[in-house]
Amino acid sequence: MLSSVLVANRGEIAVRVIRTARRLGMRTIAVHSDADRDALFVRLADEAHRIGPAPASESYLKIETILEVAKSAGAACIHPGYGFLSERAAFARACADAGIVFVGPPAEAIEAMGLKDAAKALVQKAGVPVVPGYHGSRQEPDFLRQKAYEIGYPVLIKAVAGGGGKGMRRVDKAAEFDAALASAQREAQGAFGDPRVLVEKYVLAPRHVEIQVFADAHGNVIHLNERDCSLQRRHQKVIEEAPAPGMTPEVREAMGRAAVEAARAVGYVGAGTVEFIADGREGLRADRFWFMEMNTRLQVEHPVTEAITGLDLVELQFRIASGEALPLAQVDVPLVGHAVEARLYAEDPERGFLPSTGRLFALSLPEGDDVRVDAGVEAGDQVTPFYDPMIAKIIARGETRGEALDTLSRALGETVVAGPRTNAAFLARLVDASAFREGTFDTGFIDANLEALGAVPQERDPASVAAGALSLVASDLAAAREAARAALREGATPWLAEDGFQLLGERRTTLPLLVDGERLDAHVTFDADGPAVEIPGATLALGEPEATLVEAEGDVLVLREGRQTRVALFDPASVDLEHLDAGGLVKAPMHGKVVALFVSAGERVEKGQRLAIVEAMKMEHPLTAPIAGSVGEIAAGPGDQVAEGARILVIEAEEG
Ligand code: ADP
Ligand code: ADP
Ligand code: MG
Repeated sequence: MLSSVLVANRGEIAVRVIRTARRLGMRTIAVHSDADRDALFVRLADEAHRIGPAPASESYLKIETILEVAKSAGAACIHPGYGFLSERAAFARACADAGIVFVGPPAEAIEAMGLKDAAKALVQKAGVPVVPGYHGSRQEPDFLRQKAYEIGYPVLIKAVAGGGGKGMRRVDKAAEFDAALASAQREAQGAFGDPRVLVEKYVLAPRHVEIQVFADAHGNVIHLNERDCSLQRRHQKVIEEAPAPGMTPEVREAMGRAAVEAARAVGYVGAGTVEFIADGREGLRADRFWFMEMNTRLQVEHPVTEAITGLDLVELQFRIASGEALPLAQVDVPLVGHAVEARLYAEDPERGFLPSTGRLFALSLPEGDDVRVDAGVEAGDQVTPFYDPMIAKIIARGETRGEALDTLSRALGETVVAGPRTNAAFLARLVDASAFREGTFDTGFIDANLEALGAVPQERDPASVAAGALSLVASDLAAAREAARAALREGATPWLAEDGFQLLGERRTTLPLLVDGERLDAHVTFDADGPAVEIPGATLALGEPEATLVEAEGDVLVLREGRQTRVALFDPASVDLEHLDAGGLVKAPMHGKVVALFVSAGERVEKGQRLAIVEAMKMEHPLTAPIAGSVGEIAAGPGDQVAEGARILVIEAEEG
């Protein structure tokens, strides 16, 4: 076995690779950016080395820096994880040149599968069915529109260099083709530096079914069964499972054979995944699936395959990288029970799944015999705006699909995250959705059911506000009084203004609050039983616990029914009261960078007009005018990094 490994990645996958490497007796070497100085994977590794500042382009993507560390630390091999450098042929080649084993396929195989058009042509030649379409080199709009017509609508335009669902547009009719093409090309150029696209048939009732393959350097290629990843949002996986619902031995055999042929066609070595799209209108059929792409690395969802086969895929990767032959033949590959994985993300389903960053004030992940959690963070850690905002993967297994789903549902219910907002409640609803339970879903399921899944803006939860207010009153009356006195001095809504007011022996006061950034007054009554709180829509007395409360920098995070409400004492010194009240304050919706500003001071704007763009996690988020008026102070401009809630600019309301 190789004696040591440098893990060229971060987060949960770095943690996961380190665990197996350690079990195999390897010395583990982590590399990290400044943002990850104290991260879990850094603490776990035998040694850790800084490779640069937070942005991935200056750290995790720096091939030369990583190789220098690998050489000076004496790393026998480099495991690239997924994302980052894992599918860069140049990285695999640079490792080989430095005499360090790259835990992955040969550079030529990465290259051959790297562009979707070339990969389709190549596997088609090897007899693998590919999605019908045009994957040649011509790119003129007229030509591609003609091809789309010949293929027949709906079609899918795809970036040939694409990944992560970017640069993809479904087009339903010819009139929409040119605009969709232009925008796909723009996005592809921005994300991959390559505007080229292919056009293919949009498969109806699409099911994403992929095959895990493994090849050794001695010519053996096997597959480890399939995974179904049809629950997707924006072409990105949300929940994955193995085996696929409705899979038959006949279809598995056909798909497995096609995947193995695809791997053989490029001289593959190591772990890889061949992704197929299936027409699910009449269940899975041997003549209704087509090759989409091959991912030449370990996949995020590999744990479900581990659960049903009992194999450690990272161990297999290391064994193959060290020259060993595959330890099992195709007929020996187990398939026992059912497993399902949910990706727990720091994002806000109620606000278009916007990434949500910040400190994890509380984090309690589920446990149990049939539950596995792969996490990259612990309570107290930060979810930073620099990388993928995944908190953890939660994997459940069972003898049957129903058991696995029940276990996952329970596990998601036990998950507690305070600080960043998460998709935990959304995932729980998804796991319990009847179409998912019945196995009659396709990749359009989430988009078609956003409202039922709770992924739409929702009213403030009065019970949470009351619970938060009460806890502020009860836990820190003294501090509350101090803040209130300050408020009084500033002339804001007077706390204790009714302090002398006696009503049948009671004392009533008004508690000025900020609830998720909005002003709200709670009325507090003190009587013999202690304080009780009243806000519009809810009253609550002490001793009626109905929510989880987490203290966060003096504020209270209230977790109730899968939602989080942040309740703070209103501090007039920290808030721009004037503009808050008028509604003209434009704040950054998340940590990110201002990439465009469309207005200048003094300019008149309409309500809803586009003002600026903040970019986070490679996605653009437009900021629009909350009210009509004129642009007042501008606090941030293009190129500025902004924190969540930071003031970007203010709109002065019109007089009268
Ligand atoms: P696909 O590209 O088909 O979605 P995966 O499901 O394996 O395949 O997803 C890979 C994605 O995982 C990358 O595109 C990236 O966005 C994300 N990723 C990369 N590195 C990490 C990491 N360390 N932790 C979590 N997610 C990551
Ligand atoms: P990426 O590299 O971004 O993962 P893929 O080619 O794997 O790109 O496609 C991502 C997702 O888009 C698939 O999982 C599937 O849901 C959807 N998709 C891709 N091709 C088609 C198609 N021809 N018809 C319908 N859906 C498709
Ligand atoms: Mg894919």
